Amino acid sequence: WTILGIETSCDETAAAVVRGTPPGPGEILANVVFSQLEEHRPYGGVVPEIAARAHVELLDEIVAKALSEAGLKLSEIDAVAATAGPGLIGGVMVGLVTAKALALAAGKPLIALNHLEGHGFSARLSNGAPFPLLLLLVSGGHCQLLGVEGPGKFRLYGTTIDDAAGEAFDKTAKLLGLPYPGGPRIEAMARQGNPARYPLPRPMKGRPGADFSFSGLKTAVRLLAEAEKVDTADLCASFQAAVIDILTDRVRAAMAMFRADFPHEAAPGLVVAGGVAANGAIREALSGLAGAEGFSLTVPPVKLCTDNAAMIAWAGVERAALGAFDPLDAPARARWPLYPDEVS
Ligand code: ATP
Ligand code: MG
Ligand code: FE
Repeated sequence: WTILGIETSCDETAAAVVRGTPPGPGEILANVVFSQLEEHRPYGGVVPEIAARAHVELLDEIVAKALSEAGLKLSEIDAVAATAGPGLIGGVMVGLVTAKALALAAGKPLIALNHLEGHGFSARLSNGAPFPLLLLLVSGGHCQLLGVEGPGKFRLYGTTIDDAAGEAFDKTAKLLGLPYPGGPRIEAMARQGNPARYPLPRPMKGRPGADFSFSGLKTAVRLLAEAEKVDTADLCASFQAAVIDILTDRVRAAMAMFRADFPHEAAPGLVVAGGVAANGAIREALSGLAGAEGFSLTVPPVKLCTDNAAMIAWAGVERAALGAFDPLDAPARARWPLYPDEVS
């Protein structure tokens, strides 16, 4: 399958062409990502209306660039895949409507994808990670532990009861006066800091189940920064250490649930995906945990962890291989749960 993918759910305008068959790995023929960072930076976060307008202005050009880098004409691709949600609705509509127009014009099928399915399958694109797999999805809007058996086949082990992991990084960075987006900044500062300097809470650690909570951690950082003159590097290091402690504890709990559900997996797979998976210290900690617990860890390269269209094109490959195409009236959705029992 050769699929054109389009991603516009947040602040990256992205198009990619990917070729392959499940379980992967796939071949990335083009992966064009334009980050609108500079447009949003003055506001300290993504402004939905600015993002939607920028997608309108940029997307045609980005799609043309992806096709030309791949050396393909629209008529040579097999299907057009686009993020149909969840995300900022204006941006999602721009990408999905563009994909519909291209599919209609070229007489190709449409695949309307869940953005999180894109993140979730990125390790199959990069490494051919086999199903079933235990997925830690840590992004700007989500923090979930899922059992994954295929397109649309997700079971929930744990989710955040308040902030997402990336949100915790971004909000903490903001209150420390670091520029947006906070994740990469905190990681860089943490490298020069002492992680044992400030004792911070580990909400939910050791609790039954595998749910997460980060808002208490963020509040603890705020109270500390208000009460005394803090060393930013030490506080970043202490914050990141707390996040790592929470993540590894909750992943360990989910590993037991996954083993109970899939007792026949000799070396079960753990995959980490989403923007926060770009964090080197988190990758390292999870690699240690996986080794100790007999899981084989796959983390996609950083370029495939943060928002991109190659992961959307690949999720399209997975669905195309099952003949799971969508009608041209497929809706754009601001909210779109991955698993059936989430209240939306
Ligand atoms: P979602 O996928 O849930 O809709 P999103 O698409 O905005 O949200 P991603 O693009 O997957 O999220 O990830 C962005 C998030 O990843 C931001 O919160 C950012 O701070 C975080 N992030 C990026 N790099 C790092 C890093 N090195 N360390 C920690 N966090 C990081
Ligand atoms: Mg982004
Ligand atoms: Fe994302």
